[in-house]
Amino acid sequence: MKIEIGTAYYPEAWPEERVRLDAKLMKEGGISLVRIGEFAWSHMEPREGVYTFEWLHSAVKILGRAGIKVILCTPTSTAPAWLVKKHPEIRIRRPDGTTAYFGVRDHTCYTSSVYRKYAAKLISRLAKEFASCESIAAWQLDNEIGHTIFGSCHCAECQKEFRNFLRRKYGSLEKLNRAWWTVFWSQEYSDWDEIELGGMELKMDSGRVLDSFRFRSEANRAFIVNQIQAIRKFAPDARICTNNYAGLFDRFKAAEMLDFMGEDFYPSADKPMGHNAMVLDRYRCLKEGVPAWILESATSPGAPMRNLFRFFLWSFIARGYDHIVYFHWRSHLGGYEKSHGTFLGPTGKPRARYRLLQEVTRELDAVFKKYPSLPLPKQEAAILHDYETLWSWCAGFWSHWGEFEKTVEYSHRQLLAWGVNSDLIPPDRDFSPYKLLVIPLQTHFPKKLARRLRAFIARGGVVLLGGSSGMYDGNSKLLPEPGPEHLREVFGISIEDFIVFNSDMPMAKNEARESSLSKQVTFSGTLNGKPVAGLADKWIADMEPAGASVLLSYENTILKGQPFFTENRYGDGWALYYGANLVDEASLRVMTRYAVEKAGIPCRALPENVEAVTRGPLTFFLNHGDTPVSFKPDCKGTVVAGGRFSRGRLELQPRDFCVIEHE
Ligand SMILES: [Zn+2]
Repeated sequence: MKIEIGTAYYPEAWPEERVRLDAKLMKEGGISLVRIGEFAWSHMEPREGVYTFEWLHSAVKILGRAGIKVILCTPTSTAPAWLVKKHPEIRIRRPDGTTAYFGVRDHTCYTSSVYRKYAAKLISRLAKEFASCESIAAWQLDNEIGHTIFGSCHCAECQKEFRNFLRRKYGSLEKLNRAWWTVFWSQEYSDWDEIELGGMELKMDSGRVLDSFRFRSEANRAFIVNQIQAIRKFAPDARICTNNYAGLFDRFKAAEMLDFMGEDFYPSADKPMGHNAMVLDRYRCLKEGVPAWILESATSPGAPMRNLFRFFLWSFIARGYDHIVYFHWRSHLGGYEKSHGTFLGPTGKPRARYRLLQEVTRELDAVFKKYPSLPLPKQEAAILHDYETLWSWCAGFWSHWGEFEKTVEYSHRQLLAWGVNSDLIPPDRDFSPYKLLVIPLQTHFPKKLARRLRAFIARGGVVLLGGSSGMYDGNSKLLPEPGPEHLREVFGISIEDFIVFNSDMPMAKNEARESSLSKQVTFSGTLNGKPVAGLADKWIADMEPAGASVLLSYENTILKGQPFFTENRYGDGWALYYGANLVDEASLRVMTRYAVEKAGIPCRALPENVEAVTRGPLTFFLNHGDTPVSFKPDCKGTVVAGGRFSRGRLELQPRDFCVIEHE
C-alpha cells in the first residue's frame, strides 16, 4: 500500500513554466496527490458565460504526466466580483440586516436559488471539461461548507424556505405553537410570515432555534446535492467528497451524500493528546467503513519544532488516514493567507520543510510497501454523538454548541486514559460491533432509539449514560414525566426533577471542562471496594432508585443521601447512569473504568500522554508528552518505524512514535 501525501496547490497564480517545475519538485518530494481549484472561480469564469479552463487543463496534464493525482474542487466558496455585483441578493444577510461584503470568502447564501443556479452551471461545465481526465482521483465540493465569518444567513429566501419547511413539518400554526411552547413570553404566532429564522445569534426560544438548525442543516445538504448532480451529469463515476463540513450541521447526514469524508485538521502541540485522538476518531466514523482523508493539515505544526510534522503525520496514519493533504505548496505573494505555512515558502525554492517532506515520504514508502492494505482501527467502545442533541443543547439558555462537543471529548478522554480507543457514532448506527456505549448527553430518546438501546443492553452490552439525557422531547421541551424517557425500567431509576447551576457561564470558553467545575455538590461511595469522592456540577439529577443499585450518593446539599451513580442489570447487560452534566475528571475516570470492566474490555497500561492504536498487524505507540518514556508494551514484535524497542522495553522521546508489527 501507499500512504498518499498531497498538497493544496494554486496553479492559477503561476505561469505554466513554474507549474512544470512545481510538478517536478512535488514528484521528487514524494507528493502523489494535489488539490486544486477550490478558490479559482474568477479564473475559471472571468465574466459570465466566458470559461477559461486552459490553465487548469494544462496544470492537470502536467501533474498527471508526473504521476500526480488531482483532487479537483468546485470553487463555490468564492463567488466572483461580477456575480456579486450582478446579484447582490446572493450575499449572506445577518439578523441585523447588514450583508456580507466582497473581498473575503464564504460570503454567499447556500439557500439562494440564484446562487445555486450559477454554481451548478459552472460545475457542470467543469465536469464536462474534466470528466474523462484519468488523473482526477476525486472531486471536492466547495471549501469547508458552512463555515463563514458572517454567521448564519437571514436573507429573504432563507426566511421563505424556513417557513415552507415549517409548513411541511407542522401543517398548522396551532401545532407549531404547541410544539414550540410559544405561550411563554407571548411568542404565539398567528401568521406564518411572522416567523423568523433563528440561529446562534438568536436563541432565546428553543423550539424555533432547534428547527432553524434542522432547516440549515437540510439547506446545506441540498447545496451538496445540487453540486453532486451537476458533476454526475457528466462524470457519473466521480468520487466526491468535501472538506471539514461545518460542525454545527449534521456531518453524518452529509456523509450519506458523499463517497467519502475529508477533514481539515491542524493539530497543535498545545492541545492534549485526547483532542488530537477525538478529532481523528470523529471524522473516521462519519461514513461507516469508508476511510476519511485529511484534506488540509499544517506543513510546519509547532514550527520550528522540526519533529512535529513527522509525529502528527504518523498519528493520522495510526487512526486510519492513508490520504493526507497539506496546506499548502508555495506561499501566495499576496492575500489574506500569504503567511500561511507552505512547503516552499515565497521564493519557491526547496528549503528545510521540503527536505523534511522528502525524508518523511521516503520513510513511508519504505515502511508500507510490504503491506497490501491496512484495516481501519477496530474499537470495542463507542460514544454517541447526536446532532439533534447538539442543536437542542444550543437552544438552551445557558448552553453553547462547543459545550456539547466538550462533553463528548471529555468522555472520550476518560476512555483513552485506560488505553481504550473509541468510535464516535450517530444514534442510528449499528451498536452490535461494540461492547460499551458511552452516552454523555442525549437530550431526547425517540422510541426507536430507546428500543435499540434496550436490545443492545439485553444482549450483553453496557451503556454508561450521563447527565440530563432523556429529559426532553423532540422539540427541546422538558418532559412532563420522569426520565430517562422510555428507559426508566432499563436503568432502574426515575429522574423526578433536577437542579441547574449556571453561575459561571459561558462554559465553552474553558478549554478544560474541569476548570469550569464549581465545588458545590459532592458525592461519595465505593466502586469495586475502593472509596470514591468527587464533585458534580451544571445539571444535577434529583432521582429515585426504581430497581437499580446505588453505587455513589450525594453527600451534601438538599439532595444529600440520594443516588448519584447507579447500575442496573437488564437482560445480559448493564445500564449505568450518573446524574450530572459535569463530573470532576478523577471521578469520571474511575466511573468510566468501572463501565469498561463491566463490558469486559481490557484496559491498556500506558504511560501518561502515550496512546496506542492497532491497525491489523501493526500497533502504533505515540508519546504526546514533553518527557521521554520507557515502558513495556503489551505486544511483542518487531519495530517497523520510529522509537527504540529493546529487551521488551519501548523507549519514546517527546513527540516520538514507534510502530510494532505483531509476532
Ligand atoms: Zn440566505
